[in-house]
Amino acid sequence: MTAAFLPFALPDIGEEEIAEVVDTLRSGWVTTGPKAKRFERDFVAYLGDQALEAVAVNSATAGLHLALEALGIGPGDEVITTTHTFTATAEVVRYLGADAVLVDIDPATLNIDPRAVEAAVTPATRAIVAVHYAGLAADMAAILDIAKRYKLKVVEDAAHALPATCGGRLIGTLASDAAVFSFYANKTITTGEGGMLVTRNPELAARARVMRLHGINRDAFYRFTANVPSWYYEVVAPGFKYNLTDIAAAIGLHQLKRLPNLLRRRVELAAQFDEQLTGLPLLLPPKPAAGETHAWHLYVVRLSAGAPVSRDRFIELMFEAGIGCSVHYIPLHLQPYWRDRYGLTPERFPHSQRVYEQMVSLPLYTRMSDADAQRVCNAVRGILRP
Ligand SMILES: *Cc1c(COP(=O)(O)O)cnc(C)c1O
Repeated sequence: MTAAFLPFALPDIGEEEIAEVVDTLRSGWVTTGPKAKRFERDFVAYLGDQALEAVAVNSATAGLHLALEALGIGPGDEVITTTHTFTATAEVVRYLGADAVLVDIDPATLNIDPRAVEAAVTPATRAIVAVHYAGLAADMAAILDIAKRYKLKVVEDAAHALPATCGGRLIGTLASDAAVFSFYANKTITTGEGGMLVTRNPELAARARVMRLHGINRDAFYRFTANVPSWYYEVVAPGFKYNLTDIAAAIGLHQLKRLPNLLRRRVELAAQFDEQLTGLPLLLPPKPAAGETHAWHLYVVRLSAGAPVSRDRFIELMFEAGIGCSVHYIPLHLQPYWRDRYGLTPERFPHSQRVYEQMVSLPLYTRMSDADAQRVCNAVRGILRP
């Protein structure tokens, strides 16, 4: 008898999430309303810093776009980010007519290399977008230092980083201009689709709130006229349609409550993998420094030169063993749009290129049992040590 296929990722939705969605559906208020507001408040409370503002959006991509828009990024500007990421990180720069300058990673952490960032700064550089790859915080001390010296803005693509720490502080509470979390289906918490922009800059938050909903500014008017019928509003900019529905926020409220438990399970699974996958021609994922939290969104291994099979063959053999794997990510410098727009070649990104050719993301999610994790490890061992 063969076991059922173990997919690469599955969301972990509990009965409380389901009941809250049903409550929303029965309430008569299904789009952005009281639950989205509560989700924003709960998110700030979770981060534990009341000086922060959270702006709920319908994707992290939307949140990144809003953050860069609010920071005034536009045509002629350059924004430096990593090639070793999902295209969303860089595409938002192009939405604004600015140019994305892609740089290589530090092969020890797979995160953006601050030295490569500094080397890429030009007079046109306006901002750095750092990605906390796989849930391990990027070197934010170095990045914030570069930003200070060159007067650049910093936005964190924190899509993988709930909850991760840097210098003992949760991502979202650092001194960057904004951090943006993703609640896509396979992220550490999910609302189906959704995201949260977090900032300690009230002007940035206010601009993002206006641009999140068609550039409509109601607040100014309401402050003085809360006692009149609420039909009046003013359009102050050609905004977007990026608001999070209460149906999605209903899921998020309970996912956030469960986050400590979900993290505990991820950490447990990662430790089980670390222990079971030693002694193989395999490089294990980089570890967080002592006292730091890794969010373990992804568990990425790299096949060593001594591995008996190629990365592509490894993924095929895992599939034949009934286990879904993935690759995060095909670096942007290999994607036709980015490659051709900026004339990029793999030689300019030796670390990302090499890691790409060797890396595999193994399934790691809270609905996996210990037996599922053991099955993954057994399959890996079987392939690499026939
Ligand atoms: C998932 C992801 C995004 C986009 O998140 P959405 O919520 O799907 O828009 C952006 N950057 C990275 C690194 C991601 O993994």
